[in-house]
Amino acid sequence: MTALTDPNLSIVVPAYQEARGLAEGLRAIRAAAAETGLGVELIVVDDGSTDGTWAVIESLLAEMPELVALRLSRNFGKEGAIAAGLDSARGGACIVMDADLQHPPALVPEMVRRWQEGEWDVVEAVKAHRGRESVGRRMAARTYYRAAAWLTGYDLQDASDFKLIDRRVLDEWRRLGERATFFRGLVAWLGFSRTQIPFEVPPRADGGSRWSLAALGGLAVQAVTSFSALPLQLVTVFGLAMLLVALVVGAQALRLWFEGLALPGFTTVILLQLIIGGFLMISLGIIGTYLARIYEEVKGRPRYVIREVRRRSPQ
Ligand code: UDP
Ligand code: MG
Repeated sequence: MTALTDPNLSIVVPAYQEARGLAEGLRAIRAAAAETGLGVELIVVDDGSTDGTWAVIESLLAEMPELVALRLSRNFGKEGAIAAGLDSARGGACIVMDADLQHPPALVPEMVRRWQEGEWDVVEAVKAHRGRESVGRRMAARTYYRAAAWLTGYDLQDASDFKLIDRRVLDEWRRLGERATFFRGLVAWLGFSRTQIPFEVPPRADGGSRWSLAALGGLAVQAVTSFSALPLQLVTVFGLAMLLVALVVGAQALRLWFEGLALPGFTTVILLQLIIGGFLMISLGIIGTYLARIYEEVKGRPRYVIREVRRRSPQ
């Protein structure tokens, strides 16, 4: 396989702390990509790893002429790494996949075949099962996806970042103005004609997921707040509900006062204080979350910062 200056297929692989499995992963991805017979560029984005991932990538440059190595200046998170890779992709189609072989490379030829049928702009690999995960994590994921689907109108359950997108989709993706991107959600938002291929998620060969629970939680909040303003409107709905309660309780309080029995309402007062206080705090939190999103976007900082680019073939 030779690296073309004008590749037909770009493969974007974000990698964070993957030093141990990366060489094996990239070789498998590369072998699978070769089966398509297309000119391939393999864009690996080192997301600020501190474990020697960059050294592994550099050592592979000689072996893989189609390798394009991007090194981010620090850890920007998977979304930032994907954005960096997509921005430099030049292929007629682009596949995004994980470095850890949890996105089986064997699917790559099949995805390309679907794309070549000419009918599909987005070929998504969807999880047939979620692989080996703890019960807690799985239940949390299910609850989250259900709530998010209700709030945003996009059902991302079983969706993954393992996707092929046509050049046209990629160009539209690049026009999206937001700083905080969410690849999976934005591809759904972009629309186009889409088809799906189910796949089994194999267990991670080395170590656990690179996502901390806090990072996952952050992504969950970001995913909802970038696709839906419904939580803000929920605040209004809560307020209206509280107003109804207030009318009823207020009428009762007045009646007690007129009947000269006003004192025994102490428990009611405490409860109302607590409930209203709780609602107010949650509402402020929701507003604060959106405010923070607006703040982040208004600053207009880049999605990622590239420290170094290495490629073997001349530009
Ligand atoms: N990843 C990244 N930056 C991060 C965290 C993860 O680029 O801050 C990459 C990681 O190297 C892998 C992919 O994103 O290629 C998915 O990560 P992981 O396998 O840890 O997540 P999971 O399989 O649980 O979705
Ligand atoms: Mg993984």
